[in-house]
Amino acid sequence: MTEQNNAAGRVAIVGGGLAGSLLALSLARQGIGVDVYERRSDPRVDQSGGGRSINLGLSKRGIQALSEVGLLDEVMPLTVAMAGRVIHAPDGSTRFQPYGKDRGEVLHSIDRNELNRLLLDHAQRHPQVRLHFEHRLARIDKDARELEFEHGEQRVRVQPAWTVGADGAFSRARREMQRGERADYHQEYLEWGYKELSLAALPDGGSRIQLEALHVWPRVHCFFVSHPNRDGSHTLTLFLPHEGPDSFATTREPAQIRALFDKYFPDLVPLLPTLVDDWNRHPTGSLITTRTAPWSLDEWIVLVGDACHAVYPFYGQGMNSAFEDCSALMAALGRHPGDRRAAFADYERTRRPHTDTLAELSKANFVELKQKVQSFWFLARKRIDVALNRLLPRTWLPLYTMIAHTTMPYGDALQRARKQDKILVGAASAAAVAAVAALAFGAWATHLI
Ligand code: FAD
Repeated sequence: MTEQNNAAGRVAIVGGGLAGSLLALSLARQGIGVDVYERRSDPRVDQSGGGRSINLGLSKRGIQALSEVGLLDEVMPLTVAMAGRVIHAPDGSTRFQPYGKDRGEVLHSIDRNELNRLLLDHAQRHPQVRLHFEHRLARIDKDARELEFEHGEQRVRVQPAWTVGADGAFSRARREMQRGERADYHQEYLEWGYKELSLAALPDGGSRIQLEALHVWPRVHCFFVSHPNRDGSHTLTLFLPHEGPDSFATTREPAQIRALFDKYFPDLVPLLPTLVDDWNRHPTGSLITTRTAPWSLDEWIVLVGDACHAVYPFYGQGMNSAFEDCSALMAALGRHPGDRRAAFADYERTRRPHTDTLAELSKANFVELKQKVQSFWFLARKRIDVALNRLLPRTWLPLYTMIAHTTMPYGDALQRARKQDKILVGAASAAAVAAVAALAFGAWATHLI
């Protein structure tokens, strides 16, 4: 059966995930009527979470976007501050690396589903917003400016004033929008996947490892990252190759699971008494990077978040950049009142180069997390960066600080970091020349005496 919904004059947002629900609020606050169509059931009723990544690192860009819709005071009590990384070496020793020069430069761990529920709650309370769950976008008729959703056995057709594709990395809205158009789409799968496990709190609610930190167990072959939860537990994410020796493909039986942990993470074994059950209960996820263009069609549809730029999670910026997209789109609409086509073009022109940069940075941080955080030279370089930042807080900013603790566009941050690198390399060479000169002079002087 096909039903026609009255969406005339309203904006349709496809996807009620993180970006979709935040953008619904931003538009509603400007007096714009919004319909959000989400393929899942209402996560506030069904709290299983669908096995998806449970907690995320919220940083400056996300914080800024949340404060623009007046939600920061409600979100922050749901977070656990992470002041830095605790690195767990293979011999069981640990080392703390602060994220920034002071306590202000921290990341915030937040439960993805809790944040999504809060955003949906606030969206629903707004008189301009209507939420439609179990509505899966199936087709777009671009000529008729019509969206078709599957809703149980029914087909629902709507003709909104305009549309936002906020339906994540495998966006149907993007595919339908670009069908038959001159469009680019590039998708890259990482040969590693991920699996989440849980590190329970102590019976008294305390944490088994330092609570207010991100924990990393870096190994060249695989690594764990853990985010803290407010109840003292931690969500562990194992990143491991999909195929080959010691991979998800070869780690299926209880003995294989235990052997993998004995080999790479012996210090975690006593902390995970239900390891085998947890392993089997949680699905193995895949990671993709996507790049695409254009991000919009005419004045009628535009993309935000993972729908236009999915990135590997290693810089912790996917959600933060998706939230920042919402701010960037709202700003572009504000710069071009009455001309949506120009606003969409402006949004893409000013934003896409930076999310392309983020994709590259996120790939590079994969190597950093699994390998470099243990390297002497990497750590020495980090220390110099932090020391210079303390000495010259306005002029010297480490790349990580610019990405996580500022809203400087990603591309500008990378350019500035490269300039700083050149200065450091120059200074290091000068120091090396001076040292050689000093040695030579010493030898010459000795010779004279
Ligand atoms: P999503 O959150 O994926 O939302 C898309 C929504 O659209 C979903 O609700 C989906 O059900 C719905 N949908 C899909 N198809 C349809 C359809 N056909 N019709 C209707 N609805 C549809 N980011 C960070 O900032 N910090 C982190 O620490 C971090 N850690 C991560 C760890 C892992 C392991 C992973 C995988 C990701 C991580 N991310 C992190 C990235 C972050 O999860 C995403 O970037 C973010 O969720 C993107 O938000 P979105 O709203 O664009 O997409």
